[in-house]
Amino acid sequence: MKKKTLKGLSLLELQEFVESLGEKKYRAAQLFSWMYAKGATSFDEMTDISKEFREVLANCARFDDTEVERKSTSPSDGTTKFLFRLTDGLMIESVLIPAGDPESSDEADEEIPEETPSSRRLTLCVSTQVGCPLDCKFCATGTMGFLRNLTAGEIVDQVLQAQRFADRRITNIVYMGMGEPMLNYDEVMKSVDLITDDRSLNIGARHITISTAGYADRIRQMADEGRKVKLALSLHSLDTAKRTQLMPITKKFSVEDLVEVLEYYYRKTRRRPTFEYIPFEGFNDTAEDVRRFVTLSKRIPCKVNIIPFHSIAFTGISGFGATLRPTSGERIEQFAQALRKANITVMVRSSSGEDIEAACGQLAVQEKSARTRDASVKKARGGTSKAAPGKESM
Ligand code: SAH
Repeated sequence: MKKKTLKGLSLLELQEFVESLGEKKYRAAQLFSWMYAKGATSFDEMTDISKEFREVLANCARFDDTEVERKSTSPSDGTTKFLFRLTDGLMIESVLIPAGDPESSDEADEEIPEETPSSRRLTLCVSTQVGCPLDCKFCATGTMGFLRNLTAGEIVDQVLQAQRFADRRITNIVYMGMGEPMLNYDEVMKSVDLITDDRSLNIGARHITISTAGYADRIRQMADEGRKVKLALSLHSLDTAKRTQLMPITKKFSVEDLVEVLEYYYRKTRRRPTFEYIPFEGFNDTAEDVRRFVTLSKRIPCKVNIIPFHSIAFTGISGFGATLRPTSGERIEQFAQALRKANITVMVRSSSGEDIEAACGQLAVQEKSARTRDASVKKARGGTSKAAPGKESM
């Protein structure tokens, strides 16, 4: 008999489950707490549950689905990259980022009193899909194609597993790992509900950021549903033709569609969205791009997160993506200053984890080590052998 996977079940679903086993409802609350709040790794640890019921559970259910395949910590900044193996053998990555990275910073966010001092902040960047179908030309995950969506349990498990290795509580979650959260909306939101539950991990919704490549329909849905999490949009260009070159999803939702929905989002939630922006030399870092941004900020109060482009040469990328060059640090500073002059809140992200390829957009699972890099690049070129990589058709 296939054992039932418990991780990812809500309290209500757990209640139905224990009742189906002829047990009282309150057992579900105990299971819920052991799994999500106390981070138990076996039924044996659940000492307030009778031995008999623990045996029944061990025979018909499991919650130890995700395994840590590998973990590496950057000697330069303490960023830790986790490689997780899922039950079907597929791999995903998460990145634990210690304090100080503006990515998780709310310092410039006067709407939200920040109770976690930046020195104590610990942010986990989670994946929502194995691979990604969106094919953004600068993103390593895009080169893998799409394999499948993660379940809410697999998303929450990244937090629970990373927490075990962390020296303090994880305070912030960013949905900025592999995949497009909005293409896995229901499971992503279920994972948010589990992570924010005060009987579970109890991480405040305002310490959670969902980042999207631009699904206007889902942004509207988030606003309508009154979701309290923060929203980030990977913008990268305000020129629809250029953005289409970078991010084919723009064929589905144009820059104007996105601006309109974000106006709606702001009107409805009164929360400023964050725009993520990778400056590419001579492509989207000109005075004209600054001008477009300034016009935008008059329509939508926003924050801008500038992310230096992290090379994805290790994927063996070719075509338009291979022509993209990072804007120099000096030029990025000028770009940021020009935006600040127009009263836009701008943060320039550091390059956390770059030395272990754990930086933004560098998550692409390949079986590789420094010594086998050449072989792995060949493999990346040929795609992955687990399944045919899919791309979103526009
Ligand atoms: N699909 C979602 C979340 C995953 S990408 C999204 O598009 O927002 C998380 C962030 O990393 C996005 O802002 C993305 O644009 C950025 N990113 C992707 N590749 C990058 C790279 N090579 N260098 C820097 N940032 C990158």
